[in-house]
Amino acid sequence: MPSEKKRLEKSLDKLFKIYKDISTKADEVNQYRCPYKNAKNICTATFKCLNQHFIKDNPKEPICIGSEKLDYRPAWITDQPIKSNDE
Ligand code: SF4
Repeated sequence: MPSEKKRLEKSLDKLFKIYKDISTKADEVNQYRCPYKNAKNICTATFKCLNQHFIKDNPKEPICIGSEKLDYRPAWITDQPIKSNDE
């Protein structure tokens, strides 16, 4: 039993380190990449943002045209729904 307990502790320590590294990286990326921007640069926000841009091929999901060099938060208009480019 003691050896199983040690193995369990070792396993939990390893798991904790993995999650800690993931969390640290996520905190770092969140400083410049908007959390609503997915891996394909599609905006997943349910509110209006000045960085949303709609294209003909995909009129339902806006592309994020925000620069990852600037703070994205001033572009958020969270009290308004998403609108097409022309509205
Ligand atoms: S369009 Fe705005 S809310 Fe959407 S991912 Fe880009 S910065 Fe974020």
